[in-house]
Amino acid sequence: MQIQVKVFTVNKRFPLTISRGTTAQTTNIWVSVSQDAIAGWGEASPFGVGNHGQSTDKIKDALQQVTPILQRFSPLQRQQVEEELIKMQVPSAVRAALDMAMHDWLGKRVGLPLWQLWGLDRDRIVPTSVTIGINSPAGARARARDWLQFTDVRLFKVKLGNPDGIEADRQMLLAVKEEAPNVEFFVDANGGWSLNDAMEMCNWLSDLGIKYVEQPLPRGEEQSLAELKEHTPLPIFVDESCFSCADIPQLANYVDGINIKLMKSGGLTEAMRMVNTAKAYGLQVMFGCYSDSSLANTAAAQLAPLADYLDLDSHLNLIDDPFMGASIQQGKILPNDLPGLGVQHSAFAT
Ligand SMILES: [Mg+2]
Repeated sequence: MQIQVKVFTVNKRFPLTISRGTTAQTTNIWVSVSQDAIAGWGEASPFGVGNHGQSTDKIKDALQQVTPILQRFSPLQRQQVEEELIKMQVPSAVRAALDMAMHDWLGKRVGLPLWQLWGLDRDRIVPTSVTIGINSPAGARARARDWLQFTDVRLFKVKLGNPDGIEADRQMLLAVKEEAPNVEFFVDANGGWSLNDAMEMCNWLSDLGIKYVEQPLPRGEEQSLAELKEHTPLPIFVDESCFSCADIPQLANYVDGINIKLMKSGGLTEAMRMVNTAKAYGLQVMFGCYSDSSLANTAAAQLAPLADYLDLDSHLNLIDDPFMGASIQQGKILPNDLPGLGVQHSAFAT
């Protein structure tokens, strides 16, 4: 197969602040694999999780390194390609882009959308949450209003772990709740709390009727999850602490769910394994995203019927998304009937 790589920059309508910093723009990578006059597309986007971050340059260099080596494979040989890439220890976002592209190629080859190829039921897709980043109470209120005008919001994800402390978290969440009294909420602390803060906040959030908390403690402090779990009734999901299915067994007793992202897992193949592993342990699953465009979020949407919660909203906050694929209808991100991922260039493609 032939592999083509192209970088593109996407800009956010509203910059997003989380406990680790603010992002207004990212440079992502579009990957195309082609054979027999069919091209399959994938995307890699950069992300940072402590020492496990993957920058655009790191991803691009690894793609350049693997391109000549993968030429001897066909897009049908996903197992061999995955083995090769794991052996070469490339960043997981590189594996994600290639795995997505090979799946897209397969769908186009057989003329079916992936969700249909897997026999999934599109009617099972739940509405996606939309994100409100760390902000002043007034700023968060304004962001909530904007989302409510943009789409039929059923679930807000509110970013907490404000560097100014948990009192700032409380004020911001109360402001957003007041602005949207009929919408459900969950929160994502992005590992921004100490164990004491997390215990206090989780109980407060539980009393407020918040659905669940994502990543209350930093990656690397998983040993404290047991104590947190013992002291709060609020369901706990992990994101930064869980990259692939191998991370699940040791977390399973102390959490209620996991956030699966294609860039962490290394693609749809591993995302599917993570779903199965999580379900075997009785955990719930959600699919999330980084600064992904419509391309990667449409890939995740193909698996969306398997998720209990969806948080695939990054492309909805882009002013120059070069791709279009899954549409948003009644707050749900729905993959279309086109073969493969069903992604095409948008008017912003260069
Ligand atoms: Mg998260």
